[in-house]
Amino acid sequence: MTNWGVIGQERAVAFLQRAVAHGRIHHAYLLSGPPQVGKGTLALAFAQALNCEQVAPPCQQCRSCQRIARGVHPDVVVLGLQTDERSEQGRLRKSIGIGQVQELAAALALQPYEGRWRCVIIDGAERLSVEAANALLKTLEEPPPQVLLIVLTVDPEQLLPTIRSRCQRLDLCLVAEAVIAAELHRQGAPEETARHLARLANGRPGWALAAFRDPDQLATRSEQLTLLVEALRGDTLRRLDQAAKLATRFAASREEVYATLDLWQGWLRDVLVLAAGGVDLLWNQDWAATLQTVAATVAPAQARAGIEALRRCRRQLEANVNARLALEAALLDLPTLPTAALAS
Ligand SMILES: [Zn+2]
Repeated sequence: MTNWGVIGQERAVAFLQRAVAHGRIHHAYLLSGPPQVGKGTLALAFAQALNCEQVAPPCQQCRSCQRIARGVHPDVVVLGLQTDERSEQGRLRKSIGIGQVQELAAALALQPYEGRWRCVIIDGAERLSVEAANALLKTLEEPPPQVLLIVLTVDPEQLLPTIRSRCQRLDLCLVAEAVIAAELHRQGAPEETARHLARLANGRPGWALAAFRDPDQLATRSEQLTLLVEALRGDTLRRLDQAAKLATRFAASREEVYATLDLWQGWLRDVLVLAAGGVDLLWNQDWAATLQTVAATVAPAQARAGIEALRRCRRQLEANVNARLALEAALLDLPTLPTAALAS
C-alpha cells in the first residue's frame, strides 16, 4: 500500500498518481464501484495529493494532508446523502437536493482558501435529484479554475449521460481476498481473523476494516443471518411480522436495511454455490453447516427466485415505494424450508 491508503485498486491509484505528477488534472472524475471498495478513500487521497505541501504527495504528514484526513480542510468538501433526515412530507430523503448543489456552486466560484485545489466529493451521486443533477451539470459545463469535482457512485448508469460524459471515469473493482487479509494482518489482526474477515468481505476492504475495528458488526451480521434462517423456516405470519420489523428499521436507517438485503442475497447465493458443489467458494464459510442443510432441501430455482425477490425489493425501496409492502413481498417470495429441516 502506498501513502494513498487505498487497499488494492492499483490501476486507479497509478492513473491518478500520474495525473498529479504531470499536473494534468481533469475538472471532474467519476469513481464507480460497489459499496466499500474504496471510492471515498481514493477520492480523499486524490484531494490530499493535489493539496499536499511535500514533494511526494500525499505525505499524510503535512498540515494539509492531515486536515483533509480529519475532514476539516476548508477547500475539501464532501457532499453526501442525508440518509435519515426527514423531509417536510414526513418521508425520508432519498436524494441529494438542489439546495446542496446550489450552495456548492456558490462556494466553487470563490478562490481556494488555503489549498491549491478546491475539491468537492459527491458521494452517492446516483441519488442526485433531477434539479440537483442539472445544477451540477452547469458547474461541469463552465468549471471555475482550480476546482475539482469527484463524483462517487455505485451505479454510473443511473447518472445523467451528460454528467458521465464530462467526467474522467475510473471503475474500481472488488479487491482480492488475499490482499484484504494481508492488510488486516498488517493492521494487527491475527492471521486467522484476517483470513476470516477477508473472506466475509466479498472484495470490499471497507467492510473488512470496519468489522475488524468494531466487533459489533460481526454480531449484527450473525443476528441478521439468523433472522433469514428463521424467515426460511417461518410461515406467512412469521414472515409478515419480520417484514414489519424491517420496515420500522428502514424508517430509522435505510442503509442498515439495504445491508441486510445484500447480506441475505449473498447467503442465498451460497446456497446456489453449494448446490453446484463449490464448497470452497462460499462467502459465508462460517455458516457452511446450515447452508448444507438448506442446499439439500431447497431447489436452486427457489434460491434464485429468492435472490431476485431481494434485489427487486431493494430497487423498490430506493424508488421510495411503500417500504412495508415491498419488504412483505420479498419475505413471502423467499424459499420455504420444510419444518423438519433446521429444527434447532
Ligand atoms: Zn502532505
